[in-house]
Amino acid sequence: MCTTFLSYEIVKFLKKQKVELVDYPSLIRFNPNIPWKTRGNGAVRLIVKTNNPQKIKNKIMEFVASYSDIKNGANPGLVFYQNESLPTSFHKFSKLALWKLISRKKAKQFVSENKIDSFYLGNGQGLVGAIGAIGYKFSDHTFELLCYRKKSQFGKKRIVSKDSVKKMQSVTFPETFSNYDNENDRVLITPHGPDPVFYGIRGETVKSVVLASTIVSANEKLDGYMVFKSNQGTADHLKNKLEVDDLKPYVSGFLLGEVCSKPTIGQGGHVFFSIQVKGRKIRCGVYKPTKITKIAQCLIPGDRIRVAGGIRKASKNYSRILNVELLEITQLEKNISLVNPTCKKCNKKMKSKGNRQGFECNKCGKKLFSKLNLQIPRKIQAKLYLPVISAHRHLTRPSQRIKKRNKSTLFEPSFPWFNVFKADGKFLNNNTLDNHSIILEYD
Ligand SMILES: [Zn+2]
Repeated sequence: MCTTFLSYEIVKFLKKQKVELVDYPSLIRFNPNIPWKTRGNGAVRLIVKTNNPQKIKNKIMEFVASYSDIKNGANPGLVFYQNESLPTSFHKFSKLALWKLISRKKAKQFVSENKIDSFYLGNGQGLVGAIGAIGYKFSDHTFELLCYRKKSQFGKKRIVSKDSVKKMQSVTFPETFSNYDNENDRVLITPHGPDPVFYGIRGETVKSVVLASTIVSANEKLDGYMVFKSNQGTADHLKNKLEVDDLKPYVSGFLLGEVCSKPTIGQGGHVFFSIQVKGRKIRCGVYKPTKITKIAQCLIPGDRIRVAGGIRKASKNYSRILNVELLEITQLEKNISLVNPTCKKCNKKMKSKGNRQGFECNKCGKKLFSKLNLQIPRKIQAKLYLPVISAHRHLTRPSQRIKKRNKSTLFEPSFPWFNVFKADGKFLNNNTLDNHSIILEYD
């Protein structure tokens, strides 16, 4: 159904069992360019301390079994690792899952080689994310508060006050991000599918997302929320420098190269061009919704660029291509055009006298034999160009995060990072922050 909701239900259970959570739940997004991923290719990690691991494991397996929509193609995977420290093989596996395609066969092999306690349903593809989540090491992180609906509301239209979301963004930005699209006047926090999430608020700290949630008003009684530590907004999948031999379908990463063909505009307004990387030509596609198309159109052969994105598999009509998610121009080529010379005296364009006959000024008769090199000013700059916010993916690093890195966040179990609303179903903006005077920080 939804991995994060399942985790929310599991944490509800763990709290009732008085199982100690050691860190915030982590929501890790893996390679978004995998075709058979779940929508956001996300996996959740929970770290707990318990005296009765077997009982907890059994119960969690029951949760996974009862919440998984196997009939509709869900392939959940669950992995337990019981130890103080983690073998490096987990980290390696996790790193690869961020940008590569990892087969379920590899995941099953990993499980048996490392004698790991695991459980899966369907084809076992979910094991890739589960192993990856355990092995994931944060080098930067953000938080997302996910607020869930009551079961009776699942599938119904979400009604949220637009003004409250706008206000939330204006009060908390840049401590929260990607929540409201000012340009298109669109709320970005509510998903559109039938999943249990009512909204998700992204931000830099637990406090900022919890505060933000108190500003948003929903038109229904919500069940509760949980804050996840996440690699969303960190461009994690694009960190990896791709080599020309890596360019297999569905891999993600970045390439450094030189533009070697004039951009062309295809159907739908998408822009295509080629770059040269170590003697190989690689086609790149920039899609209309990113709005970087206007920039890509102005590229000329010789421009040095860094492009990041995912490799799309070749189809009947298209060759293998890099779908561009980020375009950085590192060096602009001079745009030189050969033009008919101008007569300096009369300030008039000279006329060609025919093939290889040179040029002549109609007014004073002055003659010149060759065309002139004219440098045409470039319309684009040597800088980083990002897609517009409406085309962002979970992992896209938004512009205000470009230089930001969150190193470590201390787990504060007493702070309301997890909240199940009372049965009297108060609206979210009246929830339980009474003991935490966090609002003052934003005054
Ligand atoms: Zn002249």
